[in-house]
Amino acid sequence: MNQMHSLNEFRAYQCDYGHSWEKYCPSDASELEMDTRCPEGHDAVTCSKAIAIGSLEILLHQAARIPDRFRPDRTFGDDKYCITIVDINTGLRHTSSALSANAILPLITRLIPMIRSCSFDELRKVLVEP
Ligand SMILES: [Zn+2]
Repeated sequence: MNQMHSLNEFRAYQCDYGHSWEKYCPSDASELEMDTRCPEGHDAVTCSKAIAIGSLEILLHQAARIPDRFRPDRTFGDDKYCITIVDINTGLRHTSSALSANAILPLITRLIPMIRSCSFDELRKVLVEP
């Protein structure tokens, strides 16, 4: 049994008369002739595809998970944070190393505009090579 979810994508079409329309479908769905016509019947002249908005999530969470062996009253990473990115279509996830609030803010600022149009790997690169 194949449990992989099919990726969804937006297909943004435009005709020569300036009309634009979108289709949201699994990325392996075949293109129908009706998909390539604007509501007024003109043929599409461009089609751009993008990963479906909402397939990627950026999670911010505390790094504290491990008891500090020198100070048992606290956990290692009490003042540190991690970013986890998740692709809800594929289940892929990647967690950053434990970072201070000062270090994590610029990463979040870089990731926010990327979440709509970039791939999981592009987001992961920001966490791997800050
Ligand atoms: Zn048109």
